[in-house]
Amino acid sequence: MSIVNDEVNYCIQCGTKLNQKIKFGKLRPVCPKCGWIYFADPKVAVAVLIIKNSKILLARRVNVPGQGRWTLPAGFVDAGEDPRLAAQRECKEETGLDVEIIDLFDVLYGQEHVRGAHILIVYRGEIRSGEMSAADDVDQVAFFPLDSLPELAFSTTEQIIRKAQKISNCEKMK
Ligand SMILES: [Zn+2]
Repeated sequence: MSIVNDEVNYCIQCGTKLNQKIKFGKLRPVCPKCGWIYFADPKVAVAVLIIKNSKILLARRVNVPGQGRWTLPAGFVDAGEDPRLAAQRECKEETGLDVEIIDLFDVLYGQEHVRGAHILIVYRGEIRSGEMSAADDVDQVAFFPLDSLPELAFSTTEQIIRKAQKISNCEKMK
């Protein structure tokens, strides 16, 4: 997985057409006039894993990709935003629920589609208040038993759930 979707052709400082040049060990778009270098930075998203009574909270996506399929409440981290707050914000926007971020669950790498994130930070969350109602880019929100899931939107969703299932099985054996 190494989709590159951030082609930049012109200098954002002076508008000159950029050249490809080796800079800091890699071919990068460089402005021949003012020297500005374009660094392609990873896009970062956050997701919240909420499990209650062995059921997982999922949201159904309205938009492509993954339209009509289910995933964790998730979204992009804005520049200058604490990822924990981004996770709380996205959860509130999509599900109507106020969550407390409990801890870091996992960090996944790999872009699944051209508009997707490169790095996904997954937090475990617990619901503190709010009423469940779908909004923003999801049209349904529901809890599903970990062993009876709907069609999932992304392979990262599957990876996260597989790990959650493993942990939940281990806890049952204790
Ligand atoms: Zn320039």
